[in-house]
Amino acid sequence: MAIKDISNVADRGVIFTFDDDISVYLIKGDNNWYLCDTHLGPGSMEYIKSYMAQQLKQQPVIVFNSHSDWDHIWGNCAFPGRIIIGHDLCPERMKDIGQYELKAQSSFQQGMIKLVPPNLTFSESLTFAEDALKFIYAPGHTIDSAICFDYRDSVLFVGDLVEFPIPYLDCGDLDLYLKTLNIIKEFPARVKVSAHSGIVDNALIECNIAYITDIIGGVCVDPEFYRECPDVHNFNINNRLFAMYESAVRQQLGANFDYGRFRSNFGDFKKMKYAQLQQALEDYLVRLAGHLL
Ligand SMILES: [Zn+2]
Repeated sequence: MAIKDISNVADRGVIFTFDDDISVYLIKGDNNWYLCDTHLGPGSMEYIKSYMAQQLKQQPVIVFNSHSDWDHIWGNCAFPGRIIIGHDLCPERMKDIGQYELKAQSSFQQGMIKLVPPNLTFSESLTFAEDALKFIYAPGHTIDSAICFDYRDSVLFVGDLVEFPIPYLDCGDLDLYLKTLNIIKEFPARVKVSAHSGIVDNALIECNIAYITDIIGGVCVDPEFYRECPDVHNFNINNRLFAMYESAVRQQLGANFDYGRFRSNFGDFKKMKYAQLQQALEDYLVRLAGHLL
């Protein structure tokens, strides 16, 4: 994996985009430097570290995780002893799904990965006034999603909350997602940076809002929304079905619930047909009720 592009945004922000089109965002504050997301492992982070080492003036780095998905946190272990910021729910979700994702997505690993959760978490927001930065809870893509606002440069890093052409839906509460997207749309930031789609504008945010509104309404979603990536739409539909069953199984098993053990019974949601997944989930429930698992 190599860096495809390094772009300066305003005075002190730098977007690093890797070959796979995933970006991390570095803010060079006066007191600390802040790295938003850590891509796929310490291998990727070598590029960022060498960039930082080449700068004339350097500051200690603080890491921020926009959420706990694997493609945003695997490089945390490249920064031992450093502050890693995330929402309160981020360490919990990482513990829940982390090992499963590490195995399921193993072909994407960049270097030897050790899962390292955030060690400085917040509930609603966290401000570093001396560097004019604010981290804000923004649930929607996932329940632990958060954004970073650089109010000196007027740049907002939105992680996976805005994505071209449609976002991944991995949080049951889509009304919450709409609320967050409307806040992002109205946010007084000059530039909005997404982790998968570079600099985004309000037209894309409105498209994301329209797509989610259709999903909430249960109407047949216009294929124009996802023409370029039918797999993501298929994933979203299947994932919503899976989440319903997951919460039922969680309730039933309580402390004995193991996400990895449960999730590994089902295939790739991007490719699977809805009816096939539903049948597999129903069969699982029957086996669970009969104590056959
Ligand atoms: Zn992502």
